[in-house]
Amino acid sequence: MIKPRAVRQLPECPNCRFYCNNPFFFCEVFPDGVKGNSCIYYAPEIGALYNGQVIKQPLQNRTIEEKLVLLDKHPLFTGACPNCNYKFSNQELLAEQFMCPTCEWSDE
Ligand SMILES: [Zn+2]
Repeated sequence: MIKPRAVRQLPECPNCRFYCNNPFFFCEVFPDGVKGNSCIYYAPEIGALYNGQVIKQPLQNRTIEEKLVLLDKHPLFTGACPNCNYKFSNQELLAEQFMCPTCEWSDE
């Protein structure tokens, strides 16, 4: 009988977005299990940990169709305003929230 390998997992693993819930391949990052007592890649479904703070990922609660539209239209991916085609500067593209200075389009 083939038994799944015993892999180490942390209490938070099932909440992580890299968790595969598969006895043969339980984590995308560490398929054989984590070596230490914490995981630097741990990222809960609702957000990611940066400097001990949970950063919410705004795309998480959208449907796949909405995400695909965003991939086509959102300035983060196109570099331009979907409304007036204003070209965002590299500095503006680093902003958390997009606001077009020309037509006041916003991604909120
Ligand atoms: Zn615009």
